[in-house]
Amino acid sequence: MNNAFENAMTQLDQAANIMNLNKDIYAVLKQSDRVLIVSIPVKMDSGEVKVFTGYRSQYNNAMGPYKGGIRYHWNVSIDEVKALSFWMMIKCATVNIPMGGGKGGIIVNPKELSIGELERLSRGYIQKIWREIGSDKDVPAPDVYTTPQIMGWMRDEYEKLVGHSDPGVITGKAIPNGGSEGRETATAQGGVYVVKELAKKLGLNPSETKVAVQGMGNVGGFMAKILHEEGYDIVAISDSKGGIYSENLDLNAVFAHKEATGSVQNLEGTKNVTNEELLELPVDILVPAALENQIHKDNVDKILAKAIVEMANGPVTPEADEILKQKNVPVVPDVLANAGGVTVSCFEWEQNNKNEHWTEAEVFAKLEPMMVQAFNEVWETKEKYNVAMRVAAFVKAIERVAAKMKI
Ligand code: NAD
Repeated sequence: MNNAFENAMTQLDQAANIMNLNKDIYAVLKQSDRVLIVSIPVKMDSGEVKVFTGYRSQYNNAMGPYKGGIRYHWNVSIDEVKALSFWMMIKCATVNIPMGGGKGGIIVNPKELSIGELERLSRGYIQKIWREIGSDKDVPAPDVYTTPQIMGWMRDEYEKLVGHSDPGVITGKAIPNGGSEGRETATAQGGVYVVKELAKKLGLNPSETKVAVQGMGNVGGFMAKILHEEGYDIVAISDSKGGIYSENLDLNAVFAHKEATGSVQNLEGTKNVTNEELLELPVDILVPAALENQIHKDNVDKILAKAIVEMANGPVTPEADEILKQKNVPVVPDVLANAGGVTVSCFEWEQNNKNEHWTEAEVFAKLEPMMVQAFNEVWETKEKYNVAMRVAAFVKAIERVAAKMKI
């Protein structure tokens, strides 16, 4: 199997061929600008010193300071971090925010660390990379298993080392620490703006549009709630234990049932479905909002949805993507559909840099036109080149990055 970075480069090649990308720019985009590898010694509670390995890939900053999360996971690798930083470059350029692509990670299982060890690890990482970050250089954020508290320790350590305040050095902070209103629901809200544009293109009326959502965490849960408020008909939803389906799903009852029992299944008046069955339901829009590689070559032929909106990162494999394109099923790619999150992170950075604090209404009033414009630009690019929306998003993003690089 290809590694993540090889996959990312295959996507770059595909877009480069279609748009006839200048070969010098192509050569630059085949590499990350800089990859830091650091070792982080941490005094554990036992008194023993353990040394962790961390990375930061700064892929490209033509659009603005490098931007991307820091992941704490045992599977973190240099190739994964490089690939994720490339995809961040694409995502930021797709929605046209003034940020480049970056990503970081530490090889660690954070669940095995005490709170004190976690704090020392987070501060230790910043002690090793602080010269290379800053609000005008590289702006990290949370990712898998990193939290607003961890962002708080990192901001504090950075400011101690540089000797001045720089709240915009990191985003995803808690609100009293300079975080943005609306960040919690931003990814889902951005996805809803995308669904509304997609529905217009497909001639779907919200009240007659059946939606199935896989996952009900930060993204899937809020997405289902907001779509429901917008009048869409949510007919299925799931968590890690499985899902439920009903033509008359009462979402309030679903959330109450999950709260009470820890699962959505076995709710009266609904039918239990597995996570695999949820993907194969006869709906208008399918929203995978949990894990990667959910729609693949072995189940793609069973997908009945008229369109897919990728809220998780990478839920449709490249083989399945190709088959869906042949079947004329639009797949709104992750780099567009879930870019509301990074866009509001960019707003957090902007507020910090100007010493402002916007209301949630102000945040979403700025987010909506950006998501709508990005969606329509990707749609037009798809029509122009007759390619899948993912390829179109890559073409549009690389056009923007290339134009800046050329100047
Ligand atoms: P989360 O941890 O809040 O929720 C994940 C959800 O997936 C939970 O409801 C969980 O029960 C469910 N789940 C776990 N295993 C599952 C399985 N096998 N089948 C079905 N569901 C399963 O995570 P999140 O923040 O909602 O992120 C979901 C996806 O969205 C991830 O791919 C993430 O990378 C992506 N994403 C999140 C954000 C963000 O702002 N949170 C931004 C961009 C992309």
